[in-house]
Amino acid sequence: METVAPLKEIVAEIQQAGGAAYRYCYQCGKCDVVCPWNRVRAFSMRKLIREATFGLTEIEHEELWRCTTCGTCPTQCPRGVQQIEVGVSLRRIATGYGVFPSAVRGVRTAAGSLVAEGNPLGEPRAKRDAWASGLPVKPFAEGMEVLYFVGCYYSHDPRLKKVAVAIAKILDRAKVDFGILGTAESCCGEAIRKTGNEEVFRALAKSNIKTFVERGVKKILVASPHCFHTLKNEYREFMAHFEVVHFTQFLKQLLDEGRLELSGEFPHRVTYHDPCYLGRHNGIYDAPREVLGRVPGLELVEMADHHQDSLCCGGGGGRIWMETPKQDRFSELRLQQAQQVDADVLATACPYCTTMFEDSRLSLPEDAKLEIKDLAEIVAQAI
Ligand code: SF4
Repeated sequence: METVAPLKEIVAEIQQAGGAAYRYCYQCGKCDVVCPWNRVRAFSMRKLIREATFGLTEIEHEELWRCTTCGTCPTQCPRGVQQIEVGVSLRRIATGYGVFPSAVRGVRTAAGSLVAEGNPLGEPRAKRDAWASGLPVKPFAEGMEVLYFVGCYYSHDPRLKKVAVAIAKILDRAKVDFGILGTAESCCGEAIRKTGNEEVFRALAKSNIKTFVERGVKKILVASPHCFHTLKNEYREFMAHFEVVHFTQFLKQLLDEGRLELSGEFPHRVTYHDPCYLGRHNGIYDAPREVLGRVPGLELVEMADHHQDSLCCGGGGGRIWMETPKQDRFSELRLQQAQQVDADVLATACPYCTTMFEDSRLSLPEDAKLEIKDLAEIVAQAI
């Protein structure tokens, strides 16, 4: 089957997303030069934009689903083209037709689970707060200092639950008055929106906003950069304005105010991976490094690509639910970069990055010393 989306539909979708600048693309190809895909295989954002411009998009084509929304090409485009918005608009059209190539069918499964259980992992909603069992974690009540919005992967994924536990222990040690929503918390909706499923995103966003308002939430603490981006920047579309803070920022504040002290040693050579949605999309580069810099015994080193040039892990834009052959995974390259600076710990602050890196770590030789840690796990070890 070959389906070509009519140009007027693409234009309408892109304009609805707030952008029309794609028309000014002059095909310089700078987006392709910086795109992480071109380190592992051929992919052309330039071509995607050109085809969209002339109504030549084949919506059943897998290339439509390749962009991880890492945000690198918009930083380089001399014409201000909104490549991510164009890509998401094309996916909205494909989703509208119900056209999903076999490699991206996981998106459908995730969407079904989000509607039924409020998370994309197929886990029962009733188990959302099971990670907190036996810990000093209370239900959120009006007047508390912060709502800790845990997020789907930290709530349900066995590896990432350890990060949620670390965060709860740190908050308790710093005597932060915090609570969680438990089973009333739903996915923020970031990734499903990037796959073009606006309907499911809006339902999730409205459900969360309603809960925040009903419970008197003012300040929200998140550990996922994807939740951070969505709650802070996208829930505003619903006239919802909450103070949203990422855990790395909050940790720095706790240390600055003397509410938390780090006295335990973490004697490791650590390199920090900037998650796309914390760094490029939201400009948070210093807080994580300052926190790591205060951990006794920790030596911080930079990989080849860092700060604004950080190499995407490959899990954004809904790619976490899609199939990526081993030879096409950027996370393999990132692990190599960490090894090249002789780090024994690759630290990050994002559930997708941790998941992608842990998967790639499985293919390292058994005696490879590289460990993957969330920054919260390192700090928890040092308190
Ligand atoms: Fe077009 Fe911008 Fe890519 Fe150049 S960098 S090809 S102008 S989208």
